[in-house]
Amino acid sequence: MRAFIHAKLYERSEDAFLVQDDRFAAFGSTDEILAQITPDTEVVDLNGAAVYPGFIDSHCHLLGFGRFLENVQLSSCRSNDELYARLKRRAETLAPGEWLIGRGFNEETFDVRELPDREGLDRVSRDIPIAVTRMCGHKMVVNSKALELAGIDENSRVEGGTINTERGFLEENAIPLLQAAWPKETEDSIRKAILQGQKEMNRYGITAVGSDDFISLTDDWRLVLNVLSKMAYRGELTVRINEQCEFPTVQEFAKFLDDGYTTDVGDDFFRIGPLKLLSDGSLGARTAALFEPYSDDPSKRGYMTMSRDDIRTWVKLAADYNMPSVIHAIGDLAVSTVLDVYEDIVLPGNPLHHGLVHCQIMSPEEINRVKAMHIDCYFQSLFIDDDAPILSKRVGVERAGSCYPFKSLSESVIAANGSDAPVETPDVLKGIQLAVTRKSVSEDAAMNPKECLSVKQAIDSYTVCGARIFSAEDRFGVLKEDCYADFAVLDTPIENAEIESIRNIPVMMTVMNGETVFER
Ligand SMILES: [Zn+2]
Repeated sequence: MRAFIHAKLYERSEDAFLVQDDRFAAFGSTDEILAQITPDTEVVDLNGAAVYPGFIDSHCHLLGFGRFLENVQLSSCRSNDELYARLKRRAETLAPGEWLIGRGFNEETFDVRELPDREGLDRVSRDIPIAVTRMCGHKMVVNSKALELAGIDENSRVEGGTINTERGFLEENAIPLLQAAWPKETEDSIRKAILQGQKEMNRYGITAVGSDDFISLTDDWRLVLNVLSKMAYRGELTVRINEQCEFPTVQEFAKFLDDGYTTDVGDDFFRIGPLKLLSDGSLGARTAALFEPYSDDPSKRGYMTMSRDDIRTWVKLAADYNMPSVIHAIGDLAVSTVLDVYEDIVLPGNPLHHGLVHCQIMSPEEINRVKAMHIDCYFQSLFIDDDAPILSKRVGVERAGSCYPFKSLSESVIAANGSDAPVETPDVLKGIQLAVTRKSVSEDAAMNPKECLSVKQAIDSYTVCGARIFSAEDRFGVLKEDCYADFAVLDTPIENAEIESIRNIPVMMTVMNGETVFER
């Protein structure tokens, strides 16, 4: 048993609580709680720190995020010399046969705007295969050993991509050719990435995630499913995972269903969540599907990555097995197309919890359709940081007026916040700040202030709303007796901070299932 005393509890008047095994056992004043302890109770004096339910990241890619962290981080490099030096340091720690993979450089931020190249990487190593990806992910630079292992030479060609072996540059569809030579994923490599990813999540106070992992590093969804099930069984998970199940083909999805899997199979560590589909691209790359062209490039209106009929086939098959779908839809055409499909399939009140992921470019009409059908919304206030400076350029002032409608959605349907990590760092406090201010942190830009959440709404978007979207509010996402003891301890209450500095509040401790999984 553990007693936590002298705390400021979110939405509770008491200042202390007892944790028995994995659950909150009692709440009370510090005196009341101290009266209930036994000689072997551990007493933790929180000295006035603030306690919130463990934060919930409603949509991310835990496995992809963990792998991202294993790569050499190059985003802060300001020159090629620095980039090569950083790679060289990592090269010295690698075991034979391992690849050296770096990510995130941006030559636009270098003192001299010059790309790294094959020659430079060869100076780092001629024996270790090296591949570094630009921050956008659409360009890769590799050394001679990497080209050799991938069987790429000056005669290689690829549709929809370019290869420049002289300089070691690979673009677009040439990148998978190189990646095909990377070591095959194993149970071990996947487990290691999950361990890394969840450890980092815990640092931000996160104790539960909706995560899309099955085919993010491999097409072998059974391998990933197997590893996650084993980790849950062995008690190795420090975040609860609600799996957003993605498959390479509808046939593979049918096999999954045929094996007896569907939503809710599993336990409170690893549970099968909804089917995950992607219907369009992104705003940044102008691939999000719009009704009208992009305002800053009238030749483009993005495109659907799945047809309406395909979406219907998947959603219907899932619904036949009581499995909801959650669908990535960023542009208004994508949102509208998904809603057309939902109109025929979703039952009144949306009892299965079908959802929309991202909810970015939406007209008032689509917002009303979401409300009418009670569609769950998975949104990312963290996107405001990068998107506030480009939104009006991309879609014009008029369309921008109803975009990222987080308040409208939060007040009418279940709407839960998340990071989409590794797209964004899963920094919950920064996400709360952005939801409240709708102002970019890095640039002087803001988004429609009508849609600012209150501080309480923003906190709830990362706690109880996440639990609601997973149908788990009777088990976590709230500070309540008999719920799992999942909580985050912050240095000071979010409600007391200046809204522009919420992101600077330190997370002091994260407890999941009654166990401390992070401590500053
Ligand atoms: Zn995603």
